[in-house]
This record gives sequence, structure tokens and C-alpha cells, in this order.
Amino acid sequence: MASQRCLRRLASLSCKESVSVSSVNLRWRPALLPQSRRVHPHHLTRRSMTSTSLGQSIAKAIESTGPISLIHYMKQCLTGKDGGYYTSSPDPFGKSGDFVTSPEISQMFGELIGVWIIYEWMSQNQCNGKKVVLIELGPGRGTLMDDALRVMRKFEPFAKSVSSVKLVEASGPLRDLQCAKLCGEDIKPRWQGTNWTENTKHFGAPVTWYDDVRQISLQHDEAPFFIAHEFFDALPINAFENTPDGWRELLVDVKKNKLILPNSEEPKEPEFCFTLAPKLSAPARALNSLSPRYEALSRVPNAMVEISPDSHGYIINFSRSIHNAGSGAALVIDYGPANTVPMNSLRGIQKHKRVSPFVQPGKVDLSADVDFGALVETALRPDFNVEVHGPAEQSQFLFGLGIKERYESLAQMAEGDSETLAILKSGFERLTERGGLGMGRIYKALAIVPESGGRQIAGFQREAPVEEEPIAEEQPQI
Ligand code: SAH
Repeated sequence: MASQRCLRRLASLSCKESVSVSSVNLRWRPALLPQSRRVHPHHLTRRSMTSTSLGQSIAKAIESTGPISLIHYMKQCLTGKDGGYYTSSPDPFGKSGDFVTSPEISQMFGELIGVWIIYEWMSQNQCNGKKVVLIELGPGRGTLMDDALRVMRKFEPFAKSVSSVKLVEASGPLRDLQCAKLCGEDIKPRWQGTNWTENTKHFGAPVTWYDDVRQISLQHDEAPFFIAHEFFDALPINAFENTPDGWRELLVDVKKNKLILPNSEEPKEPEFCFTLAPKLSAPARALNSLSPRYEALSRVPNAMVEISPDSHGYIINFSRSIHNAGSGAALVIDYGPANTVPMNSLRGIQKHKRVSPFVQPGKVDLSADVDFGALVETALRPDFNVEVHGPAEQSQFLFGLGIKERYESLAQMAEGDSETLAILKSGFERLTERGGLGMGRIYKALAIVPESGGRQIAGFQREAPVEEEPIAEEQPQI
């Protein structure tokens, strides 16, 4: 079994590469103030104008059939074929985009995830000769996978066992960026009848793209390793409020009396709003039976809950695949409360600022807190032979994997280069700090591994119980 000392060696050994000078000083995505969510059922008095063509088609649908579910609104806005945010933005990341993520802040992040996977593979007896399949969900620019593969290349026995890389990506433009990053600058993925595919520049491992994780079929001699960084927060949610008549779903309606010029760059006010479903909808009726946590909240007047059915589906897929293979792992890193059910967390993000989720549909990133408690509950369904570790704060996870050693090694290599040293330092601090603009506390890591009877999992060695984060008002601003 791989030891803690070995893990630290992995972290410092992986330091032979140069430091990538990426967009370090950018602001990051979550930690936004809650918006007011007052609900005013109303009837439209005239046809509304919205700022995007997607907004216009959503408004038209609402006007003809009534308010729509939040899930439906978010799906259209994020991954709808007709002008969804991810499906149509050429590149939402970085300074010129809307937000920045950890892999774009520092190469150390993806490298340490590579180290984590190698460590797990070693701890699982090199997965008994099975081929390793690396599966990433929502790979963004492909930076995390590129940094992880660069580390993996250095550990030949592991690199030799990797048979394929599989990426689940809804966006065509991002798929092209991922291919350029992983396969070579001018290389575009090739259509192979059912999927896009190409060979990576890293030990020739082939990469294939999928729209949905359910399209991936694993063979009996394959061990799957899933990575989902800032993927779950981008999945659509349903929201409910506990009224005197019981749970009521929050639906999306067109905002009354709004006149916004089509294609206007900056609509002054939201174009849509929440409205309470007038009667019990099917999802509201089912809520209490989904989890004792919701049942308990049904006794709290005015309680609100958010649920993400798609997240549930993805976690079932991870647990079932790991259970079937008897090996592999899933690593989820995202933001959200460790112990409570998220409420009122839907946010819009544009140009590194928080905006209403109801302005410029399709031009604004939408995200919601991840319900780690729900992920754990789902992963541990009795028919799966898996165990769950975490959620652990990102700072604990990264320190446990040796980020300090990695940082020191890189800093040593960059000695005399003050610009690179400053970038390294700010990246290290941004990823690990638990206060201010740091991501060390708000982001959390969760791992699913085969049942092991109490083996220690790298990055999840409990030193102190995870404290609940402060209320949203105290979170740093983007
Ligand atoms: N993991 C990356 C990007 C996070 S942004 C990083 O940390 O930098 C969210 C990513 O998930 C984007 O690549 C987006 O296109 C993808 N995505 C969002 N919703 C998706 C869905 N329903 N199916 C597949 N990919 C999705």
C-alpha cells in the first residue's frame, strides 16, 4: 500500500516541468451574496421583450403554456442547443471571460489531482492489472487533464496502464479547446461515426468526447477514475419553498412590464422572475420521500431547498461503475455547504461579477451550490459496494496531497525569476487560503472509492472536523 511518504515524494517528483504563467490574478466564481427571491405570481399584460433570442423563445414558451420549472430554464440557458451559455460561448474562462477556475489559477491543482489518482491506483494494488480509464466531466479548457497527464507521464507503470481518456462535454467550442490543449495546437477532433476522438500528446492515450456520461460503456477489465471539478455546480436545480400548504415549487415566469431592447448589452433589470407554483407539482409531492433531510425541513416554516436530479444521476453512475469494476474512484471538487441543504444559491455570473440569473439568458453563467450531503446519500445506496470520503475542505485536501512541497519545488526552480515566483505564490495562496479571496474553505473535495474497510484516502485524513462555512454574506466577493 502506498504510504504518506510516497505521496509526498510523488508531489515533489512531479516538479520537473516548467511553471505555466497562466491567468493567476483573476477573480474566481462563487461566493456571491444571496439575492432576494420574492415571489409574486402575476399575469402578463403584454408581450415582453428580452435581450437575447434564447430569452425571447423562453418568454414565448412561458406566455403560451405558463411558468416553467427552474430546471428547464437553467438547461436552456446553460446547455440548450439554441444559444445556451456553454454551448455557444467560445471560451467563458479567464480574464476576458466570465470566471476563473482552480486549474486556470495554478498548474499545481491539476498536477495534484494526477498525483491523487496515481496514489489511489497504487493503493488499490495497481487495480490488479486492469486498464485505467480516465473520465473527466466538464473539462473546461482541458487544463486540469493536461496538467494531470503530464504528471502521470512521469510514472511509467501507471502511464502504461492508462488505456483511454474520456471527456464528457456539452460544448462544441470547448471540445475544440480541449483537443488543442491535449492533442496539439492545430489539431481538431475527428468524427468517428458515434463520437469525436483524437490521440493525446501524452503517451499516445486516445481521448474520446461524449455528450453524456451514460454513453460511456466500460469493459470488465477497465478501472474507471472519474474527475468532476466545478461540474456539479453547473447542473440545473429545482427549488422549493415550504408554504402553509406544504412544499411549493419555484417556477420561472416572465417579469411583468419589462421593456428591454433586443440585443441590448446591459439590461437594467431581470427579464424573468420566480413565481410559486399555484398547486402541488409532482416534484414537490415527491420531495419528502427523496431524503429524510427534506422531510425534516418540511416541518420548518418557510424553509427552502434546492435539489439537483442530474447530480443524482451522475453520482449513481460513478458508484455503479466503481462497484461493477471493484476498483477505480471518483473525485468531485466543487463549492457548497458540507452539512446543510443549499437554499437560495442560484446565481448568475458575468465578467467576474454577480448578476441576476434572470438577465440575458444564455449570455450569463448560472450556477448553484452543490449539496454534498445529497451526493453522499446517493453514492452510498445499499446496492453499491463503495465508500465515501469527505467532503473535505480544499485546503485540507491539497495540503494532504503535498501542495506545500510542490509549491516549494517549483519556487526553487524559478529562483531569480520574480514574476514567476509571484505567480506561484499567489496561486498557492488562492487555492489554499481559508479566508479572504481564498478557495481553501468554500471549495470541498469528495471521493468515492471501492469499499476498503477503513483504508486512509490521500487528502482526506481528518485532522479537524469540517466547520460549516460562514453565512453567505461573509463570503468573499468575486
Ligand atoms: N472543470 C473545468 C470547467 C468548469 S466549467 C475547470 O475547472 O476549469 C463547467 C464545464 O462543464 C464546462 O466545460 C461546461 O461546458 C461543462 N458542462 C456544463 N454542463 C454540462 C452538461 N450538462 N454536460 C456536459 N458538460 C457540461
